[in-house]
Amino acid sequence: MPRPPKPRVICHDPQYLVYGPKGKRANSTDRITMMVDEFETIRLIDYLGYTQEEAADQMKVARTTVQRIYNDARKKIASSFVDGKIIVLEGGEFTICEGNCEECLEPLRERRRQGRRNF
Ligand SMILES: [Zn+2]
Repeated sequence: MPRPPKPRVICHDPQYLVYGPKGKRANSTDRITMMVDEFETIRLIDYLGYTQEEAADQMKVARTTVQRIYNDARKKIASSFVDGKIIVLEGGEFTICEGNCEECLEPLRERRRQGRRNF
C-alpha cells in the first residue's frame, strides 16, 4: 500500500491565487490547478535562488521530490504562457512552517534576494 505523501513545509500561503491572460475568466475550461507546494518550489528556486538541494531541506522532503514538483510547476507556467491557460493555486500536501525554519530565521535572505533579482 502506498504511504500517504509526506507534507511539504511551506513558509507562507501564496499572496495571489489566480494567474493568466488579462481578462480571461478563471472558470473557463482552460484552467490548471497548481498545488501550493508546487508554487513554493518556484518561490524558493526561481525567486529566492535556492538550489534544489536547499529547497528540499527547506521543505523537509527528498531532493527527488522537489525536482518532480518543481518540474510539474514549470510545465504549468509554460502552458499558461504559451497556451493562455489560467493557473489557480489551491490544494497540495503541505503544512505551514511555524516561523522557526531556516528561511524565516535566515537574516541573509533579504540580501540574497536583492543580489539575485536584477531583472
Ligand atoms: Zn518559514
